[in-house]
Amino acid sequence: MGQRNWVVIGREIYYGIITHARDEAPRECCGLIGSRSDGEQTRYPLHNLAHDPTREYFAAPEDIFRAMREMRMRRERLIAIYHSHPRGEARPSATDLAMAFYPEAVYLIAALEPETELRAFHLRSGTPVELSLQLKD
Ligand SMILES: [Zn+2]
Repeated sequence: MGQRNWVVIGREIYYGIITHARDEAPRECCGLIGSRSDGEQTRYPLHNLAHDPTREYFAAPEDIFRAMREMRMRRERLIAIYHSHPRGEARPSATDLAMAFYPEAVYLIAALEPETELRAFHLRSGTPVELSLQLKD
């Protein structure tokens, strides 16, 4: 995380996010990505409890606690928070900026239309900064 302007995501994680986004559509999906120091990554899908899940996401707190506990057990740290925009662009919405509670995290946003896309951002101080997203095997 830190100040880097790029993020590396495993190919399997990438496809997992896209599959999760498709499975949840038209609702937004959400989840966390943990990474070990050797680069091994795990995806943690979370339930979206938002009042209108087709327009925003609110991750179930008990899912977050469980995911963070599993990350500690696997010696991972949180590197990214993902969600989808099933009918929108892969850019942070005004709500995403207002709800960006983890200034150090990378926010991954998946879009499905007109084509599948995953983009990465830092959302510090209300200003999205796009990061280069690199896929690794
Ligand atoms: Zn969003």
